[in-house]
Amino acid sequence: MKLLSSLIVLSCLSTPLAAAEATHIPDAAVRTAEQLRDRALGDDTAYQFVTALTTEIGPRLASGDNDAKARAWVIAKFKTFGFDKVYSEPASYPKWVRRHESGEIISPYPQRLVLTALGHSFGTPAGGLSAEVIRFDNLAALKAADPALVKGKIVYIGFHMQPHRDGADYSTASSIRVDGPPAAAAKGAAAYLLRSAGTDAHERIAHTGVTGFENATAHGIPAAALSNPDADQLERELASGKPVTVKLDLDVGFDGEYTGANVIGELTGSKKPHEIVAMGGHLDSWDPGTGAIDDGAGVAIVAGAAHLIAQLPQRPERTIRVIAFANEEAGVYGAKAYANAHAADVAHHLLGSESDFGAAPVWRMSASVKPQARAAIAQIAAVLKPLGVEYDEKREGAGGPDLAEMHKKGMAAMTLLQDGTHYFDWHHTANDTLDKIDPKELAKNVAVYAAWTYMAAQAQGDFGSAPGAFAKDKSEE
Ligand code: ZN
Ligand code: ZN
Repeated sequence: MKLLSSLIVLSCLSTPLAAAEATHIPDAAVRTAEQLRDRALGDDTAYQFVTALTTEIGPRLASGDNDAKARAWVIAKFKTFGFDKVYSEPASYPKWVRRHESGEIISPYPQRLVLTALGHSFGTPAGGLSAEVIRFDNLAALKAADPALVKGKIVYIGFHMQPHRDGADYSTASSIRVDGPPAAAAKGAAAYLLRSAGTDAHERIAHTGVTGFENATAHGIPAAALSNPDADQLERELASGKPVTVKLDLDVGFDGEYTGANVIGELTGSKKPHEIVAMGGHLDSWDPGTGAIDDGAGVAIVAGAAHLIAQLPQRPERTIRVIAFANEEAGVYGAKAYANAHAADVAHHLLGSESDFGAAPVWRMSASVKPQARAAIAQIAAVLKPLGVEYDEKREGAGGPDLAEMHKKGMAAMTLLQDGTHYFDWHHTANDTLDKIDPKELAKNVAVYAAWTYMAAQAQGDFGSAPGAFAKDKSEE
C-alpha cells in the first residue's frame, strides 16, 4: 500500500502535464530559423536601408522637419519589403527646436567652448547669460547642496564615462544629464553644464540627449553638454582657484505640440494572425549626426529581418510586427502611445525585443518569460550561439527602451545586448554617421532578429504575456 501510494505520487510528478505546458519550438521551425540566420549573413538589405535613410533623410530630430519626411520615407520603403500591412499610429509630443548655441569662458582665461544644448533645454535670454560656475562631484552632491550656494550660478558636473561592453556607465551619465538640470533649477541655478555623456576623450564633439524638462510649463533653465576636451579645459580653470565665469548663448526651446506617428509593418500570421511577435527600433534621432547608429541601424535590422522572413514560401503562424517608433529620444513618446493603444492586447503580444544600441554584434541575450517558456528561450539561444550570443538565464529582459513600455504592461520580452564598447564614442553627436556601421556586423544582427522572431512565431505555447505579468522586473531596458 505504501509502495503503491508512493508510486502514485511518483507517477503524478512525472505526468506529461508539465511537459505539455512547456512551450516548445518544433524541429522544423528550428531548421528554418537556422536557414534564415545563415541567409541573413549574406544579405545586405539592412545595410542598404540604413545607407539610404541616412543619405536621403539624415538627421531626424523628433518634431523637426525631417520627422514627417522620415516617416513618409519609411512607409514607402516598407511597402517594398513584402509586408502584408503597412500603417501608422499617431503619437504626440512637445515640439522642441535648436536654432543657435554657443558658449565661452569669460574669465579668468577666455576660451571658446564646444558645447551642445540638451534636448528640452530652455533657452538663455537673447544675447546670452553670464554667471560664475560652481562644480559638483556628482548628482548626490548637487542634490545635497545649500541652495544659497547654487542660486544664480551655472552648475557643472564632470563625470567621464569609461567604455564598457554593456555600456554600464551610461546610467550614471544619463541621470546626470536628465535629473541634474531640474535639480539645479530647483535650487535657483542660472544654467547647467555637464561633461558630455560620452566615452571619447579627445574629440571636440559634444553629446546631446534629453534632459528632464517635460514641457514649456516646467521650471526650466538652459542646459548644455561640453565636449570632453572642453570639460577638461573648464576643470583646469576651476582648479586655478579663481572664480570662473562662463557665457552661454542658447537659442533653443519648446514651441508648442507636434503629432507624429509610429510606423508599423506586418507579416500577417497564417494560423494565429491576432498573436503578435514584436520587434522594433526608433526612427527619430538627435540632430547633429545622421542617426546611423542611433537608431537607423535598429530600424534597418528589424526591417531587414522581416524582409527575409517575407521571402519564405509560407507566412509564419503568428503575425510578425515591425515597429519604427516615433520620438524615443525625448522621452519614449511613440512607445508610450503604442503601449497605451495596445495595453488591452498585451496578452496577444507573445514576445518582443527592440534593437537600439548601435550596429555592433549581439553578444548577450536575456529574457523575462514564464518559467515554462525557459526551454523554448534556450532553443532560441542555441540557434543564436554560432553568432557569438551568450544566454544569461539569470538576467531579466525588458525589450529595449521602446518595447519596455509594453513589457511594463505585461509583454514577455528579451534583451539582445549589442557590443557597446564604441557606441558612446559617437552616440548623440555629429559623429553618428554611416561610416560607423560595419555591414557584416549589421548582418549578424539581422540574423539574430530573423531567427528569434521566426521561432517565437512558430512556438507551441506562449511566453507568459499577461496584464502585469512582469511587474516584479527590475531592469529598465
Ligand atoms: Zn536610441
Ligand atoms: Zn539616443
